[in-house]
Amino acid sequence: MGAESTAQRSGNGADRDTGPADEALSGVLITTDQGRITDIDVGVGCPDEAERLEGLTMPALANGHSHAFQRAMRGRTQSGRGSFWTWRDSMYDVAKGLDPDSYHHLATAVYSEMALAGIGAVGEFHYVHHRAGGILYDNPNAMAEALVSAAADVGIRITMLDTLYLHGGLDRSGYFPLRPEQERFSDRTAANWVRRRHQWDVPDHRLVRLGAAAHSIRAVDPHAMMEVQGWALEHDAPLHIHVSEQPDENKACVDFHRATPVEVLQAHELLAPNVTVVHGTHLTGSDVATLGDHGITCCFCPTTERDLADGIGPSAELLEAGAHICFGSDSHAVIDLFEEARALELNERLSTLRRGNHRVSDLLVMATSVGYRSLGWPDGGRLEVGGLADFITVDLASVRTAGTPPGPEIVFSAAPADVTNVVVDGETIVSPSTRPKVDWAAAYNV
Ligand SMILES: [Zn+2]
Repeated sequence: MGAESTAQRSGNGADRDTGPADEALSGVLITTDQGRITDIDVGVGCPDEAERLEGLTMPALANGHSHAFQRAMRGRTQSGRGSFWTWRDSMYDVAKGLDPDSYHHLATAVYSEMALAGIGAVGEFHYVHHRAGGILYDNPNAMAEALVSAAADVGIRITMLDTLYLHGGLDRSGYFPLRPEQERFSDRTAANWVRRRHQWDVPDHRLVRLGAAAHSIRAVDPHAMMEVQGWALEHDAPLHIHVSEQPDENKACVDFHRATPVEVLQAHELLAPNVTVVHGTHLTGSDVATLGDHGITCCFCPTTERDLADGIGPSAELLEAGAHICFGSDSHAVIDLFEEARALELNERLSTLRRGNHRVSDLLVMATSVGYRSLGWPDGGRLEVGGLADFITVDLASVRTAGTPPGPEIVFSAAPADVTNVVVDGETIVSPSTRPKVDWAAAYNV
């Protein structure tokens, strides 16, 4: 296909997450073939066969961290009192009702909502594997298949971060048994998790990539994490881990392991370039330095972190130390990657009493190419020849965006409703005449 628009470059070959993303060019012709960008021309006009995209065309957004089923909790849990831990009990209630058919139905709506928000790739941190009580489905990967086929049906990329979950929690005396409602998350042993993965005849689909996840230091002991990382390295796959979201889990980790979660990961040689640390909200200065030294990516989820009263992670310090940052909508209290990106800067303003902590062009790079790379698509999230043909167009004349210059500043004004066109793998999945057809009320009233 060919498309002509004003285009915002984002992402570059440099190893720092900054670069020539400050300017937008008008009259840009993007040519794609077999899912790749094959040509980018400026000022050559719009050939008859090309589609004219009115607005700002930029790389598609990457959603680095998703638990699709938690979308069903939006609006139902925000008004209560409590903490992350009381919210988690409501989350267990929603997970209880899922089976492969109902999860496919729900996830199709969630991934459609993501497509409408300009998201071209999602990392699904998936742990609702089994029946109640941990009993396997006849096809032990039925739930993962439901998610993968939902994303493929919608037409967005999915990295299936199949998650190991072994323990009910951690305190100073060690790991404790699973609670009944956690049993369906667990394969019981890391060896079973590896075996289940080998049993999966994964669909040979251009939009699907396999990854791995270890739930957290409270749900997976470090030796089991090493088995997951062994699988991931053997398969050239990303590994994602929830780390230091809550002070209480840090305390339990220090009480038992005599080390912070990051120190435990380092001591077991788990910090490799394929690792993304999710949250990283409560890190020590030494944790920050360690993550930076290893060039680790941290997936911040600011809209969930504020909803759950988690706290504000040290984003500027992490970048300064050499780490990278991407974004996830996590619990889907909001599915809006522009909001996640601007929240990084706005949270930093609240905690430092200073404006302009992150360059606006860097925020877009984090929301696009860093996220794609974290999910195992290193050639996605960038408008360049040879890159994946995943891009979106944002209306510059809407009630929200009118007046914003055509450039990265769009991150401070755009919302999902301003995304007019979404192209993934060279295919248009959202346009004024192409919209996912979803009965939202039926999908989300579960
Ligand atoms: Zn999460």
